[in-house]
Amino acid sequence: MVVDTIERVAVLGAGSMGHGIAEVAALGGYDVTLRDVEADLVRDGYEQIEWSLGKLEEKGALDESAEAVLDRVDTATELDAAVHDADLVIEAAPENMELKREIFGDLDEFAPADAILATNTSSLSITEISEATDRPGQVVGTHFFNPPVKMDLVEVVYGDHTDDATAEAAAAFAEACDKTPIFVRKDVNGFVVNNVLVPFMEEAAWMLSADETTIRETDAAMVFRGGYPMGPFELADFTGIDIGYHARKEAGREVPPVWEEKVEAGHYGKKSGKGYYDHEDGDGVDYEHGQGEAFDTLRIEARMVNEAAKLVGNDVATPEEIDVGMRLGGGFAEGVCRMGDKRGLDAVLEKLETLYAEKGADRYEPADYLRELVEAGHTGEAAGEGFYDYSHGGPYHYVDHEVDDDGVLRVTFQREERLNAFNEDMLNEVDRLLRETDPEDVACVTFEGAGDKAFSAGADLTAFPTAEPRDMMDVDDVFRTVYEFDRPTLAKIDGYCLGAGFELALACDLRVATEDATFGTPEIDLGVIPGGGATQRLVRLVGEVRTKELVLRGNHIGAEQAADWGIINRAVPAEEFDDVVAEYVDDLVSGPPVALKVAKKVINDGQDASLETALNLESQGFGLLVSTDDMLEGVTAFRDDREPEFEGE
Ligand code: NAD
Repeated sequence: MVVDTIERVAVLGAGSMGHGIAEVAALGGYDVTLRDVEADLVRDGYEQIEWSLGKLEEKGALDESAEAVLDRVDTATELDAAVHDADLVIEAAPENMELKREIFGDLDEFAPADAILATNTSSLSITEISEATDRPGQVVGTHFFNPPVKMDLVEVVYGDHTDDATAEAAAAFAEACDKTPIFVRKDVNGFVVNNVLVPFMEEAAWMLSADETTIRETDAAMVFRGGYPMGPFELADFTGIDIGYHARKEAGREVPPVWEEKVEAGHYGKKSGKGYYDHEDGDGVDYEHGQGEAFDTLRIEARMVNEAAKLVGNDVATPEEIDVGMRLGGGFAEGVCRMGDKRGLDAVLEKLETLYAEKGADRYEPADYLRELVEAGHTGEAAGEGFYDYSHGGPYHYVDHEVDDDGVLRVTFQREERLNAFNEDMLNEVDRLLRETDPEDVACVTFEGAGDKAFSAGADLTAFPTAEPRDMMDVDDVFRTVYEFDRPTLAKIDGYCLGAGFELALACDLRVATEDATFGTPEIDLGVIPGGGATQRLVRLVGEVRTKELVLRGNHIGAEQAADWGIINRAVPAEEFDDVVAEYVDDLVSGPPVALKVAKKVINDGQDASLETALNLESQGFGLLVSTDDMLEGVTAFRDDREPEFEGE
């Protein structure tokens, strides 16, 4: 049996990962003991935590003082002292099986019998590590990404013996530390993210080795046409060519000749000054727009989709988990399963079959699951089903939503890793959600951004170079859907509210922000203008002078100025934010539904009509409401001096 509640955490190893994991756990409210083999090593780790917490405090990112967080961190050099009262032990010692097995063997002796024993290994077998203990059911992988404080993902990896209770407790711990866990249900080498990400760099290297491409052509194509955050060679230079090389070699896999050459020459990438690019004497990463026009991006993408299909087919992870993993752990703008569904799994399969026939290398052999999907006609979004089922519009990847007990539809933009920036899918999901919601079923709608950094920082710039102008012209549909929704809408704004995020807020009926929120339409700095209604909604809201100030200069303004100008209803201190929002929402929830709908409509429609027409609209609305049961209830309640109870009739 594993512990019910985790309170004390021990982290073994105070190196790059260990000190970061200890900091994350302390930030999550846990008492942590950080252990390394020498006093100066553990002191170094502790000092790095102290430095990092100081930086977070400076940026205003802590809810308490850095000192209070640091108070929860203790250090030790003896294993017994570090783990004797730990509920969770996380091992982050060097990547060496013998060493890890020795540590886990010792943990049997020193850690409490019900403690969870986790390892941060990136490439070793969890099963083999767990078998060094006599409680392998309590051993689990918790694969944090570097640096743990910044990277949101944790892969929770099952060994062959791991109990569900152990994995679930590890995932709950990650969540309590404000991280996003995904389950890796089988002990496969490379887990999820590395299995899918390595082919991105590896396939490019195979192509380079065979003179089928150049470094700059590949990187330019994948970034400017594919929308990836870095090119494959650029990414390899940043992560270290030697890292991928050794991991693949140790797993007994073939590696591209160019990796071999680079490693032999000591050209590991940025850290050694040279890799694919010359970071020391040359220009560093220097590919340019337009260099990758002839490159076949599907060749690299097909290999990633194939790896994802193997993981899904072997029940290692779900498409959702893989996609979250690639977004948070790989920094991808969208998940690989979603990408495969867009490209067409039949096209992916065909690409792999052609390469397999041509080159005969195992890496191109299509996954059984990919074949099964294509044979069943599940070739992706256009066919209505692929990795995901699109028959009812498809899953929501970027928008969380729930209707609470008061009938409030709470919409959260779920793309924290990109400051909740809108890509096309996210815009479409908001649009679809409101179109599919029957206004009769909800009292009002609130919108907010996940995390505390942004409501939404705008449109996702990585999507711009790859988008069709025609698609971009349609972006204002969603803002219209929000503006015209038959129930009141409220934007709950904390952090950045820029560009498309600002436009979505402007399309809402009410806007409440924290004092440190910032607003702006920075589009002009990108050589474009707002395309989601900001020029027109803003001018109606605050007039020409202020609209031109914002749109032509592209500057940000603070929440108090925005409130002063009448762009938002209220700017409130962070600690009062939730209460003030709740007061607004209460009024909307308890208000008369039909009258709220009519009020919103006549205000919206009347703005663009002549005063005469607008007044007529108002009197029609008024006339309509006079005959409702709600009005009778409102008047009666007023007379009886009680709160009205509106039925919406
Ligand atoms: P590191 O070399 O920076 O730190 C390891 C630390 O462990 C060293 O300070 C070392 O003195 C200490 N150590 C050695 N034996 C120990 C023992 N018996 N008990 C406690 N501490 C001991 O290594 P790292 O980069 O932090 O990697 C640690 C683990 O995390 C490895 O398994 C690695 O594969 C994994 N990992 C690393 C990264 C990364 O990017 N660095 C990312 C994810 C996972």
